[in-house]
Amino acid sequence: MTDVSAESLSLHPPVISGITKLYGCIAHPSAHVRAPSIFNPIFRKNGTDAVMVPINCPPEHLETVVRGLNGLKNFGGLAVTIPHKLALAELCDELGDGARATGAVNAVRFDDDGKIYGNNFDGEGFVAGLIGEGYQLQGKRVLLLGAGGAARAVAVAVAHHGCAHIDIANRTLQKAAATAELTGKFTSKSSVGTTTLETADLGAYDIVINATSVGLHDDDPHPVPIDSLAFDCLVCDIIMVPDRTNWLIAAEDSGRPVHKGRHMLDYQLELIGRFIGAFD
Ligand code: NAP
Repeated sequence: MTDVSAESLSLHPPVISGITKLYGCIAHPSAHVRAPSIFNPIFRKNGTDAVMVPINCPPEHLETVVRGLNGLKNFGGLAVTIPHKLALAELCDELGDGARATGAVNAVRFDDDGKIYGNNFDGEGFVAGLIGEGYQLQGKRVLLLGAGGAARAVAVAVAHHGCAHIDIANRTLQKAAATAELTGKFTSKSSVGTTTLETADLGAYDIVINATSVGLHDDDPHPVPIDSLAFDCLVCDIIMVPDRTNWLIAAEDSGRPVHKGRHMLDYQLELIGRFIGAFD
């Protein structure tokens, strides 16, 4: 993972030359975006003549702005965030697996051939985080909770990277079935199924991933009871705020290994940077 602890840009503004490569982080509004404050220190640290700027683009101007940026010879690509992830996928000429699985992009590259390439690294970021933190998927039985956009991305990536089996459980059963069907299309290595929390043998999984939004609030219930999981089950959450959900704290207190939501984002920044050509 790239070290993003470099010094503040405000103390050392970038030197812009005639050949500075431009990157953007497109959002609306854009005050909250993190990517420029992560990418620019890395550019400085690596001695790369490049800069990433926030692009506050109202949805009604998205196509005009993106087509215009694609026309610039020194514009490399975009980190993409709310509310543009779905609409920008529609403007891409080619989509990677993560984007095809979710219908959304979080990174877009403008190549010399004039085409717009998009992908979504949520799922790959989750897997890179697991591996980076010392875990592996091969041979593992995985229970994924949730079937929303993030869950779909995680399911596809986890299956693609060769877990033995993944079961998907979701409050809305039809969405679990649709996510399982989609996931099956992206893997020849893993078996894929659906289950419910009432019928699942919860002690039979090596890895359990909460990809629902349950846990965002302090008074949320646990997505599944920790005591029903195997003693060595890796308990993962993809929620980033709070840093450790109450469910993760309970898992940690019980002695089970835990994996925090922030790893998914931390590790995908490297993947996004490589995809848009910002990192070697
Ligand atoms: P989403 O598309 O709205 O999906 C929400 C999921 O949570 C659905 O499966 C939904 O079930 C389930 N859910 C919501 N409330 C529930 C409840 N009370 N009981 C049971 N299930 C419930 O959202 P998303 O974009 O996938 O995001 C899901 C979570 O992932 C969010 O907390 C988000 O912050 C986090 N996330 C993290 C990262 C990261 O980089 N770490 C990236 C993206 C998202 P139904 O289908 O039945 O409604």
